[in-house]
Amino acid sequence: LNAGKSENVPEWRRAVALKDQSLGKRTNMSMKEQRESLPVYAFRDQLIKAVKENQILIVVGETGSGKTTQLTQYLDEAGFSNNGMIGCTQPRRVAAMSVAKRVAEEVGCELGQEVGYTIRFEDKTGPSTRIKYMTDGMLEREILIDPDVRRYSVIMLDEAHERTISTDVLFALLKKTLKRRPDLKVIVTSATLDADKFSEYFNQCPIFTIPGRTFPVEILYSREPESDYLDAALVTIMQIHLTEPSGDILLFLTGQEEIDTSCEILYERMKALGPNVPELMICPIYSSLPTEIQSRVFEPAPPGARKVVIGTNIAETSITIDGIYYVVDPGFVKQNSYDPKLGMDSLIVVPISQAQANQRAGRAGRTGPGKCFRLYTEAAYNSELLPTTPPEIQRQNLAHVILMLKAMGINDLLHFDFMDPPPTNTMLEALETLYALSALDDEGLLTRLGRKMADFPMEPDLAKVLIYSVDLGCSEEIMTIVAMLNMPTIFYRPKEKQTQADQKKAKFHDPHGDHLTLLNVFNAWKQSGYSSPWCFENFIQFRSMKRAKDVKDQLLKIMQRYRHPIVSCGRDTQKVRQALCSGFFRNAARKDPQEGYKTLVEGTPVYLHPSSALFGKQAEWVIYSSLVLTVKEYMHCTTSIEPKWLVEAAPTFFKVAPTDKLSKRKKAERIQPLFNKFATEDDWRLSAQRRGGR
Ligand code: ADP
Ligand code: MG
Repeated sequence: LNAGKSENVPEWRRAVALKDQSLGKRTNMSMKEQRESLPVYAFRDQLIKAVKENQILIVVGETGSGKTTQLTQYLDEAGFSNNGMIGCTQPRRVAAMSVAKRVAEEVGCELGQEVGYTIRFEDKTGPSTRIKYMTDGMLEREILIDPDVRRYSVIMLDEAHERTISTDVLFALLKKTLKRRPDLKVIVTSATLDADKFSEYFNQCPIFTIPGRTFPVEILYSREPESDYLDAALVTIMQIHLTEPSGDILLFLTGQEEIDTSCEILYERMKALGPNVPELMICPIYSSLPTEIQSRVFEPAPPGARKVVIGTNIAETSITIDGIYYVVDPGFVKQNSYDPKLGMDSLIVVPISQAQANQRAGRAGRTGPGKCFRLYTEAAYNSELLPTTPPEIQRQNLAHVILMLKAMGINDLLHFDFMDPPPTNTMLEALETLYALSALDDEGLLTRLGRKMADFPMEPDLAKVLIYSVDLGCSEEIMTIVAMLNMPTIFYRPKEKQTQADQKKAKFHDPHGDHLTLLNVFNAWKQSGYSSPWCFENFIQFRSMKRAKDVKDQLLKIMQRYRHPIVSCGRDTQKVRQALCSGFFRNAARKDPQEGYKTLVEGTPVYLHPSSALFGKQAEWVIYSSLVLTVKEYMHCTTSIEPKWLVEAAPTFFKVAPTDKLSKRKKAERIQPLFNKFATEDDWRLSAQRRGGR
């Protein structure tokens, strides 16, 4: 068995990985010299003093000045960690991991000892941990368990300019904690100059500015709008590589698929040019990339070669890559936005803001004077880009956040101290969602079920499915499915071998749909002894499977901690489908006599994906995990159900038409959503009174 081939790794990636092994570290500066060369170093003592003298401090500094990696160490060296850990939150998982790894190297310890990190479903900290990096969502969960965060002496809310929902919620929660814990220190850092707003929110606290060390960046715009930004980007990269003086390139794209495709095309184009052109070292960076490959972006290119980093907006401020002289900016980002029409979050590609465009350009001026190629016109920059991105809390589904806040005993959400309060309608919709899930009662108070749901670090619908599966006797199966749903890609489908891959996949297809198909895959893999050659043979991504297993193990720990029994339903997989209904009832659709399906809630047309196990079958009623918009609105992960399960699972959400003369079939046809999605605040109060007052 050939371990090197055990996974389906594309050729370009294998090629660069091999080259890397011989690369090694090429920096001449010692770790100490590197640390001392950072802009923040000159302010070390002043910063420590400022933290000692103030309970809250805002720190502003250019990306790369050393805020994330150095501040925590300075505070540790100054003795703050003797009274609790120094916690540092990051909006992104990748940043939390990569920064912790770097700091562990600088400190000279093993990752997970003095320096560690915690992200969802992964905890790399231990009893000796003094500096802990984590996602902002994880700190939110810790506050749920201990509102006073006694384990910490300092909390640094890093990358605050990103304004993720969790960071915004942490602002408000920690503001309260600070009153109860006069010894706690909070540092809020930002890479941009919106610090005045932060300071005002935190009772006019002082702002510490680390002067930047930046070089001018020449901005070049496209003369005409680009019809194909991906192609334009790759052409620009080749031009830079072949005509511009040395210096690395950074290209911003929107997601994994785009990045992988671009890397592949670039690799092929370079290969076609033969050995006479200088080498181009191609480095992708996005959050689901395996850690070993992620760390490649920090490796300098070999002498004579040029490095091109192709990444998502993670490379905007979260991580700093040295040596970039050229930035290529197509002007787009993938954003998680709440779609009120669909009643759910969806990832959509949108134009970036002017602030983001400038942040991106700035990446080219860290090592010397640079150039930024904007693949849009100057007119578009001025008239089509918003000045800044609205905070996430104003555009996303809040069900998860509100459930957490309710579990913390915060009931009056309309008067909660948000820096920028979410629109009332979004809050009401979240309340309605939680009510439909039975997490809230008629009066909007947390139910026992709701409290249990809050223990799970995931969207409330999935938490509900997990809890409900215990009653139905299929928690073993549901844990597997939830873990598998967490993986972006399980099946591998290379262009040259699509038919073969599809045949292999079809063997796992369950007649009742994709969730059970995922279960079949996992169980078959388990049977194989979690083998990697098995994955290779079956066109399954081994890494995703391994990670799904880790997630399942973590879920198991949570289930055990809260004493939810693990029970298997064996072959009786109908229970699994019923359990799925308990959380995904809003994602129900019914076959349309014309073509495709129509959602029950909004009546919008949706379609089975050709890769679905249900494709070509005549399933009348289905539920799906999410919608993916490509050419059409496709249901992703679809399972056939019986309509009566919907009413059983969500009696406040669906009703059967109240005519007893109708036949059984007709009755099923009459299943319809109950509540008015566009209720106003007064409506909610009224309907709550009506419901409660009966
Ligand atoms: P800031 O938070 O102010 O943006 P950081 O503390 O993240 O700055 O980065 C400071 C410097 O540390 C960077 O310029 C880079 O040289 C180095 N650095 C950070 N992370 C890594 C890493 N994972 N590998 C190598 N160098 C890194
Ligand atoms: Mg940083």
